[in-house]
Amino acid sequence: MSDIFDNIILCKNCGKKMKLLTIEKNGFHLRTVKCENCRNQIIHPEDLKEYEDFQNLKKKSFQVKLRYVGNSYAVSIPREIIDFMNEQEKQMDEMVNLCMEDFGRLSLNFKW
Ligand SMILES: [Zn+2]
Repeated sequence: MSDIFDNIILCKNCGKKMKLLTIEKNGFHLRTVKCENCRNQIIHPEDLKEYEDFQNLKKKSFQVKLRYVGNSYAVSIPREIIDFMNEQEKQMDEMVNLCMEDFGRLSLNFKW
C-alpha cells in the first residue's frame, strides 16, 4: 500500500505543491508537508496519532507496588508503557539503565 505522503499534496489555500519535511517534537520525528507560501502545515496522520498516544501516556500516573525479590526490590512497569515503546522501536533491549536522578527520584533508561 502506498503512503499518502508519497503523493503530491497541494495546499488547500494556495493550490501550490507542499514540501515534504520532518519536524522533531519531544524526540519524535513527525513527517510533515508544508506550504512555503502560506505556511499551512499537515502532519502525517499516523505520526500525529503516535505523538498523541505518547502525550496521553505521559499524562498518566501509575501506582506500582515495591516488592522484595531475592536481595533486591522490584517494581512492575505497566505493560502499556512497554507496549508503546516496542511499537516505536520494534526491538527493545532487556537491560535497562537505572540511576538515582534526584533525592526520591529514580530514572530508568531503555536501550534499543
Ligand atoms: Zn498555502
